[in-house]
Amino acid sequence: MPFVPPGDPSELAAEARAQFESAYDRPPAVVGRAPGRVNLIGEHTDYNRGLVLPIALPHATYAAVAPRRDDVVRISSGDSGSPFAGTVDTLGPGRVSGWAAYAAGVLWALREDGIEVPGVDVLVHGTVPLGAGLSSSAALECSVALAACAVAGVDDSPALRRRLVAACIRAETEVAGAPTGGMDQTISLLASVGRALLIDFDAASDPTRDVPLPLGDAGLTLLVTDTRVRHALVDGGYAARRADCETAAAQLGLTSLRPATLADVRTIGDHRVRRRATHVVTEITRVTDTVAAVAATDWTEVGRLFAASHASMRDDFEISCAELDLAVSTAIEAGAVGARMTGGGFGGSSIALVPGDRLGAVVRAVDTAFAAAGFRPPQHLLAEPAGAAGVVG
Ligand code: ADP
Ligand code: MG
Repeated sequence: MPFVPPGDPSELAAEARAQFESAYDRPPAVVGRAPGRVNLIGEHTDYNRGLVLPIALPHATYAAVAPRRDDVVRISSGDSGSPFAGTVDTLGPGRVSGWAAYAAGVLWALREDGIEVPGVDVLVHGTVPLGAGLSSSAALECSVALAACAVAGVDDSPALRRRLVAACIRAETEVAGAPTGGMDQTISLLASVGRALLIDFDAASDPTRDVPLPLGDAGLTLLVTDTRVRHALVDGGYAARRADCETAAAQLGLTSLRPATLADVRTIGDHRVRRRATHVVTEITRVTDTVAAVAATDWTEVGRLFAASHASMRDDFEISCAELDLAVSTAIEAGAVGARMTGGGFGGSSIALVPGDRLGAVVRAVDTAFAAAGFRPPQHLLAEPAGAAGVVG
């Protein structure tokens, strides 16, 4: 079956090294590796101080980096976009545009945080599909961050990783200009093999907890379907949803929707704002319920929660689209235990929890349904919960 291959880490690191050599005529000093992610449940909850439950993908971005003796910074990609060249003091907000802003922004944010990254040459290459809602952006940021710290001589540690999460968020928000709630960078830097990560965006300290995800024991596979739809709506839609959530919290006299109850939400007069808040409040509860159902290995209940989450995003939050709805309904009809859209919405990917012996049937049914509807062929990935970012050599 044609799944997007995650690739072998040592082969991909070697490819990144070879591409670095042909771009810069010398070998890199280190290669950082950081995974993409897929969120099991908890959508548009991070910026509402709620809960999310992502896993890291086996698909990752590799950043080959070598220090320079001067303050020049050069960044290129083996996958997309034209090269960038500047100096360490030209990497901040408003100075870099396009794809390279994600990488340049990390180098800027590290220096802002007191990590003296020198001039560097950077080459990135990987297997996370770009713009599919699987967080190639955070994979890019985190791979560059770890490699840059290695060349700056900063030792890896849990404390460093927390700082890197913050630096990568600053890079994406302030330099690339893409608002992000922080889930993507957190999972990429803190994931564990075989586990999901429960992240609490309201926790004063210790915001993460590993959640073992024994899908294999239950004979289940997590199938990711990239609809390959990238709606131009994404940015405006995200900002509008965020604004509605802020309005809802303000009307309830709260600083976020986290403590709001459904009874509170029913008092909101504006129909649209009320439905947006309904999604957030019910979705946060569904994350807690999913963690409990996973602990009880009650996969039928997980499937029911996935379905409720999808309906909430489609009807109350209004961030689904025809392709996502079709991928989800077709997967269920063909034997998935549960399915939902995942990520920010307006395109991107869906997930389905599929019994191993139904995998082929589900993939074929989705492909056939897309063809019949006249949609672009989707692409599929298998999402085994992978480990966190690291330096691979
Ligand atoms: P997602 O994070 O879901 O993939 P985003 O829109 O947040 O979608 O980020 C995708 C963007 O990140 C790409 O359009 C590109 O600008 C940048 N990007 C990520 N990985 C790479 C890469 N390997 N090479 C070049 N650009 C990349
Ligand atoms: Mg992204």
